[in-house]
Amino acid sequence: MTDQARHVLQHTFGYRDYLDYQESIIANLIAGRDSLVIMPTGGGKSLCYQIPAIVRSGCGIVISPLIALMHDQVSSMSEYGVSASYLNSTLQPSEIDEIEWQLRKGELDLLYIAPERLLQERTLDLLDGVEIALFAIDEAHCVSQWGHDFRADYLLLDVLAERYSGVPKIALTATADQRTREEINSRLKLRDPELVVAGFDRPNIQYRITQKNNARQQLLKFLRNEHAEDAGIVYCLARKKTEEIASFLSDHGFDALPYHAGLSAEIRKRHQERFFREEGVIIVATIAFGMGIDKPNVRFVAHFDLPKSLEAYYQETGRAGRDGEPATAWMVYGIQDVIKLRQMVDASSAGEQQKQIERYKLDAMLGLCEITGCRRHALLHYFGESSSESCGNCDTCLNPVEKWDGTVAAQQAVSCVYRTGQRFGVNHLIDVLIGKYTPKIQQHGHSAVSTFGIGADMDSQQWRSVFRQLVAMGYLSVDIGGYGGLRIDDKSRLLLKGEESLYLRRDPREDKLRKPKPQKRQLAEQHQALWEALRNCRKRLAADTGVPPYVIFHDATLMEMAETRPANSDEMLRINGVGERKLETFGREFLQIINQFT
Ligand code: ADP
Ligand code: ZN
Repeated sequence: MTDQARHVLQHTFGYRDYLDYQESIIANLIAGRDSLVIMPTGGGKSLCYQIPAIVRSGCGIVISPLIALMHDQVSSMSEYGVSASYLNSTLQPSEIDEIEWQLRKGELDLLYIAPERLLQERTLDLLDGVEIALFAIDEAHCVSQWGHDFRADYLLLDVLAERYSGVPKIALTATADQRTREEINSRLKLRDPELVVAGFDRPNIQYRITQKNNARQQLLKFLRNEHAEDAGIVYCLARKKTEEIASFLSDHGFDALPYHAGLSAEIRKRHQERFFREEGVIIVATIAFGMGIDKPNVRFVAHFDLPKSLEAYYQETGRAGRDGEPATAWMVYGIQDVIKLRQMVDASSAGEQQKQIERYKLDAMLGLCEITGCRRHALLHYFGESSSESCGNCDTCLNPVEKWDGTVAAQQAVSCVYRTGQRFGVNHLIDVLIGKYTPKIQQHGHSAVSTFGIGADMDSQQWRSVFRQLVAMGYLSVDIGGYGGLRIDDKSRLLLKGEESLYLRRDPREDKLRKPKPQKRQLAEQHQALWEALRNCRKRLAADTGVPPYVIFHDATLMEMAETRPANSDEMLRINGVGERKLETFGREFLQIINQFT
C-alpha cells in the first residue's frame, strides 16, 4: 500500500516527493498503528492523514476545533478530486442528512468534524455503522490543560480509543513541550504510538527585532520597502490599536483590516474571508486572530507590541511562510512595552504561583529581544533544540551587535532613580540625567539632585536603551501604581557598590543597517509578465469557483510554470503541485496563457 500512497501523492496531489517525515508517518498509519506527530507549522501535517485516509478503506475522520476553516479545507480537497465533507454547527439539517447519507454509502474519503459534534450520541451512532479508515486529531494540544488552547471537549475524546479500538489514530500538533506531549498520549489513550518530532526550525523565516522609536513610521517603511504587495499579519496588544493601525495603513495605500474579539462575528468573518480569498490583504489583529490560520502565502508577521512569552511569539510568527518561501517576522519594541507587560503581570488577578510562571515567560521573551547573538539559536535553544551559533538569517546575524561597558551609565541611571525618590517615569529620569530645565524638574527641585546633568554625554535615545535593558534584566522594576514609575530592585545593590560590571547591547542605528536579504523568491525579469498573467488567471478562476486563490495553485506552482513554460498536458503534470484533477479542471486555461507568451 505504500506504492499506492506514493501514487496518490504524485497523481492526486501532484507533488514530486514527500517532505521530511511524511513518508514514514504515512506508512505507519496505513499499517494501522497510532502516532503522535509534532511538527512546526508548514511542515505538511495534513498530507500525513489525507493520503492514508484515501488509501485505507473507509472514511478518515478529522477532528478539528477550527470550524471556520472546514469549508475551505473541504473545497481544497474537492479541487484535488478527493471526496470530502464536514459536519459542524453551521450546516442546515437537510445538509446534515445528505452528508450522513453519503457517509453510510461509503462515498466519503474524509470527513471533518468539530469535537462537540463528534461527541453527540447521534454522531457516534452514525460512526458505529460505517467503516472508519482512521481518526486524525488535529490541534491535539487542545487536550492539554497545561497548554494555552485547552478545550474541554477534547478531554472526552478518549471515547475513540474505547469505542473504535481497531481504528488507528494520529494526533497532530505544532506545540512542543514534553508535558503537553505526555498529556496528549494519555488523554487520547494512544496505543504505543510512534512519536515523530520534526525539527522546530523555520529556516525560511527571517527574525528581526528593532528598537521602537517611531513605530508607525517604522512599520510603514518596513512594509513599503519589503512587502509592498504582500499578505501579512500585524499583531497589536489592544483592540483599539488594531483599528487605528489598520486605518493608518489604509490611509497609506495598503489594504489593511482590523480583527479583534470586540468586532461583530459578521465583520470578523468578512475580514477573515477577504484575507483568505484576496491577495495582498493585511490583517491588523489582536491574538484573537490565530489558531489554524493556514493561508500558505502569509509573507510577514509584524509585532507592533511585545508578546507575553516565547511560546506566543513563536506561534504567531510561525503563521508566516507556511509555503516554505522566504518570509519575515518583524518586531519593534521599546521600554514602554517592557514596562506595560511587567505591570500587566503584576496587576493580574492570577495567584502568586501563576504570576511567577508568567514572569519567567516574560523574562525569556525579553531575553530574546536583548541578546546580541543569533535570535534563531536562542529561540531553538529555548525549545530544547540545538542549532548552529549563527543562522545568517536573523537581524543579529546580518548586523552583528556590539556590546559596551555600561557599568557607569547603569550606576548613574540607578542612582538617579534613588535620588528622585523611586517614583518617576523614564522620560523624567532621562531629563534629569541629561540636565534639562523642564517645568517638571523645576517643580520638584530636581536640578539640585546630585545626578542632575551627569549623563549629558549621551542622548535621550541612548539613555532609553540603558533604562530598557535595566528593566528587562531586573535591575529596576516598575511601580505597581500604574504610572510607570521606576524602583530599584535588590539586584542593583552589587552594581551600586561597584562590585559588578555590566555589559549592555549597543542598539544599532537603523540608517546604518545592512540591507537584509530579499525576502521574496525572485523571478527573473523575463518571466515577470507571464507570472502576472498566470496570477490574474488564478484570481479569476478562484472568484468563479468561490475558493481562495491558493486552493487553485500555490505561488510556487505558478512560479514554476512561469519559469519552465510547459507546452502540453504531460509537461504540465511535471510541475510540482499539479495533480490529475487540477490539470483536468484548470490545465487548459493556464496552458493557453503560457502559449501566448512563448
Ligand atoms: P501544517 O498543517 O503542518 O502547517 P500543511 O499541511 O498546511 O502544513 O502544509 C504546508 C504546505 O506544504 C501546504 O501548502 C501544502 O500544500 C504543502 N505541502 C505539503 N506536502 C507537500 C509535499 N510533499 N510537497 C510539496 N508541498 C507540500
Ligand atoms: Zn541568526
